[in-house]
Amino acid sequence: MGVIVTYSKNVFLPLTTNCRNRCWYCGFRSEEPNLMDKSEVEALLFKAKDAKEALFTFGEKPEETKGFRDLLERKGYRSFLDYVLDMNKLAIQHGLLPHTNAGVLSREELKKLKPYNASLGLMLEQAVELDCHSESPGKKPEKRIKTIREAGKLRIPFTTGILLGIGENEYDRIYSLEVIAEIHEEFGHIQEVIIQNFKPKPRTKMENWREPTLEEMLKSVKLAREILPKDVAIQVPPNLVENVYPFLKAGANDLGGISEVTPDYINPEAPWPKLSDLMKSLGNEFTLKERLPVYPKFVKLKSYGSAVRELVEVYSDENGYAKF
Ligand code: SF4
Repeated sequence: MGVIVTYSKNVFLPLTTNCRNRCWYCGFRSEEPNLMDKSEVEALLFKAKDAKEALFTFGEKPEETKGFRDLLERKGYRSFLDYVLDMNKLAIQHGLLPHTNAGVLSREELKKLKPYNASLGLMLEQAVELDCHSESPGKKPEKRIKTIREAGKLRIPFTTGILLGIGENEYDRIYSLEVIAEIHEEFGHIQEVIIQNFKPKPRTKMENWREPTLEEMLKSVKLAREILPKDVAIQVPPNLVENVYPFLKAGANDLGGISEVTPDYINPEAPWPKLSDLMKSLGNEFTLKERLPVYPKFVKLKSYGSAVRELVEVYSDENGYAKF
């Protein structure tokens, strides 16, 4: 058996593309008020027969978009968080473990999401101010660091990551990884750090920017492995790189969520690779193993939302990986 490389089978639920931020590279955000219907969410959950993770990813604080509150009220909700919690509960009813990426959150908001989620996530992106975030109040590094720290105080298993190629230099990358390492050393709740490459999107301010090179990406993965504590996994999204093998050799050990039923709505031009193809590309050196959206270490510690306990117990093996 080769070195274990993990992944999670998920269904991607982009609840709304409304967002208070205006990141210069974003091809996901839209101005027109929108919110998935419960029936749309349910249809996707129903399709995701093999998945164990319901990945909720959406714009930050959509209530700040004109017309969004009216839409929310028409669907019977007074707050967006109440709607998200209802969708989390719906996923649990369908036998899926929620992992929610809701952007910057207060301690009170994190406390409300905690019981209904296997884990939560927020990309740090970079711990320095960058021009591409000058119109994005939620991308202030101190706000994102505060959310990640608050999740640590609440002992919530947490996913974060850095985004490469958005105007940062190598020193910034090292500093951002050091910030994550320090937070983890204090609270111990970071389960994985995503090393994600920027992909230019048409009709954005950064459509003509160049992507980070393979060398830059590999160097960042190596740096991450050196800087981050050993119990933090390093994830490379397999749909955003041509071949995962050199990244695994450089120290990555997770391939993130892979969906058989939904695209990557953030990078819709990049389809998920087939699991069978991934397995072949790894040869005998690495063994692909399914995990839950909460990592084995936290499964064994029983550190996940109280409302997902039964599902985690059914789905996990004695080592904390996915059972079947
Ligand atoms: S990248 Fe995320 S935070 Fe930035 S504008 Fe797009 S949806 Fe909002």
